[in-house]
Amino acid sequence: MSIQTNLLEIKNSLPKHVTLVAVSKTKPVSDLQQAYEVGQRIFGENKIQEMTEKWEQLPKDIQWHMIGHVQTNKVKYMAEYVHLIHGVDSLKLLIEINKQAKKHNRIIQCLLQVYIAQEETKFGLNEAEVLEIIHSETFKSLENIKVVGLMGMASFTNSEEIIQNEFITLKNIFDYVKPYQLTNCSFEILSMGMSGDYKIAIDCGSTMVRIGSSIFGSR
Ligand SMILES: *Cc1c(COP(=O)(O)O)cnc(C)c1O
Repeated sequence: MSIQTNLLEIKNSLPKHVTLVAVSKTKPVSDLQQAYEVGQRIFGENKIQEMTEKWEQLPKDIQWHMIGHVQTNKVKYMAEYVHLIHGVDSLKLLIEINKQAKKHNRIIQCLLQVYIAQEETKFGLNEAEVLEIIHSETFKSLENIKVVGLMGMASFTNSEEIIQNEFITLKNIFDYVKPYQLTNCSFEILSMGMSGDYKIAIDCGSTMVRIGSSIFGSR
């Protein structure tokens, strides 16, 4: 099936409160253009350089989401345009994003990445670390970032039960922090779910799914 058919089918199947991030990493600009033609305006990339090259070539009403691990020294390359950074996993990174956002007179939206999978390799914070960050005086002083939610990735497994438990864990953390509000912090977005597990994620309370291969084909 074509990119446009895949995209529209998935989009039409999502509940209204769930936002679709079309994950276009490794795919050529022409593939993104096809998705754009049928109305897709939110794209997710996991490498800053690749995202910037695509941003330069494509229409400026696209919202670019950085979904990969972010190295502090590369934030400056996307600070001018990035719409939402999903994988924020340290106060140090927030400080750098704040610094680079300030140079462009912007407020950059961020999600805190929470570690929910059983695998050792996934990045992210635990609940205590999330709380430590958002309650710190340093965090409160950051005027050019806004934490708008949480992001997580489930284990790579065939067990729906494991995946479901991990998503429920993240939803519980989300519900726990949600009442906490600051000028630069308001938990509205729960980013969880990819091609293989987005339906489970939505059942567990996801408000934003990141779908790549089911739209653009395998990588
Ligand atoms: C690649 C990626 C996705 C999309 O994965 P698919 O299985 O292709 O849908 C979602 N989230 C993150 C963080 C990714 O790196």
